[in-house]
Amino acid sequence: MTAEARETLAPTVTARLQAELGPAVSTDEAERSASRTDRSGWVAEGVPLAIVHATTVADVQATLRIATEFGVPVVPRGAGTGLAGGATGGEGSIVLNLAGMNRILEIRPEDELAVVEAGVINQDLNDALAGHGLWFAPDPASKAISSVGGNIATNAGGLLCAKYGVTREAVLGLKVVLADGRILETGRRTVKGVTGYDLTALLTGSEGTLGVIVEATVRTRPVTAGTVATIGAVFPDVATAAAASAAITAARIRPAVMEILDPLALAAIAAYLGPEGSAGLPLTGGAFLLVQTDGPAANAEADAALRVVEAAGGEARLSTDTESGDRLLAIRRAFHPALAARGDVLIEDVSVPRSRMAEMFDAIAGISARTGVPIPTVAHAGDGNLHPNFIIPADPRRAGAPVIPDAIWSAADDLFRAALALGGTLTGEHGVGVLKRRWLAEELGETSYTLQRQLKAVFDPGNILNPGVMFIS
Ligand SMILES: Cc1cc2nc3c(=O)[nH]c(=O)nc-3n(C[C@H](O)[C@H](O)[C@H](O)COP(=O)(O)OP(=O)(O)OC[C@H]3O[C@@H](n4cnc5c(N)ncnc54)[C@H](O)[C@@H]3O)c2cc1C
Repeated sequence: MTAEARETLAPTVTARLQAELGPAVSTDEAERSASRTDRSGWVAEGVPLAIVHATTVADVQATLRIATEFGVPVVPRGAGTGLAGGATGGEGSIVLNLAGMNRILEIRPEDELAVVEAGVINQDLNDALAGHGLWFAPDPASKAISSVGGNIATNAGGLLCAKYGVTREAVLGLKVVLADGRILETGRRTVKGVTGYDLTALLTGSEGTLGVIVEATVRTRPVTAGTVATIGAVFPDVATAAAASAAITAARIRPAVMEILDPLALAAIAAYLGPEGSAGLPLTGGAFLLVQTDGPAANAEADAALRVVEAAGGEARLSTDTESGDRLLAIRRAFHPALAARGDVLIEDVSVPRSRMAEMFDAIAGISARTGVPIPTVAHAGDGNLHPNFIIPADPRRAGAPVIPDAIWSAADDLFRAALALGGTLTGEHGVGVLKRRWLAEELGETSYTLQRQLKAVFDPGNILNPGVMFIS
């Protein structure tokens, strides 16, 4: 449909939405404008025609039926914390906001599962599970603000993946509304089950392009028994920190958390936290490695990891009490706030085989030197997932979302190329969204790319679900 035809249709579509969904439909200008962006810095072209605040499955079905009838794009949106531009409403689209579908429908301790609506916030689910001695393992750093539906749609990762897996491993089944309004139920409530194709896995990470997740049956885990031990270590450079983390993995130690901060990141954190936040470590030079072990063998694993860290040249602190452990963890947690204090932040996301992480850090330093763009980087070292960050200096003359300079996009392009060349992937956990779609075919290869487009057409023949996300329309 042309932009003109869409504009002509807009009042009719809005009227139909309002007739069927009443006050769930918002045409408020500020709200429509705010939903043009997420936390990636991407701003969609044009303005959506309406926001539907769904509170029931029927609301979602009605929205999709109307969208299908008129051929209007629908952008599913959870909490809008995505970093790939996937939940951004463009010209003439309907933004389908799931945040109001936030009920925890069931917690079954005996089956170690929970059933939740898509808009439930990850941390709220964990708070509800805690009383049962259970937790939901997907642990994005945004868990206090992102929705379970969004976590599933992006197959979110986080700090604990090397030991506890990514979101896909925690999803047993889904209730999904298809583009034409039909309901698809996938998966099961059993621990095992292999009947038919695994549509749950296909929909996990599908970024709103195949259907709208309205409910999820998720696997929960018993809260890890035992203690937690934490090591913070400073290395002369990021290569030695990466070598130490690789040696820990090679020693068959499985920390719950293993994070590396490169020298630029550490310097920003040191300035942000001041001397009292340093936990007694010399944060002003070098790179930082954080290792946290948990479970009954936590102390023995931490002792073994400490030996590896020191042998690799790290100046380390080991903590087995919560208070000093938290002080070490706080250094890593200060990464985002320390950068955000300097301007708007574009958070990138690439993954490489763990054995090639040091080469990726080298490549980042090379790109930074070549482009003149500083790229402070944090890595989930246990799984080879790096987040190179770009800071866009705050500009008081600019209202709303940041405009990302071309030099930064160009440095980001170089990053993707470098990750692919190392046998890595464009995105370890944030998704393709709109930001990485032009790279998708290159990573997937022709056969997989074509098959994936065909799958999209099977689920969504009218291409109304998040068109332009993942694939260039
Ligand atoms: C400070 C910060 C830290 C972060 N840390 C991490 C991290 O450690 N690991 C990580 O993986 N991510 C991280 N993220 C990114 C983001 O929080 C995750 O991608 C999260 O899973 C998005 O959830 P959301 O509810 O905000 O989804 P949204 O941003 O609303 O949507 C994300 C995508 O999912 C689709 N979608 C959302 N809900 C549904 C649904 N119900 N049905 C179908 N499609 C849907 C959207 O269309 C979009 O394509 C971070 C973000 C921030 C701001």
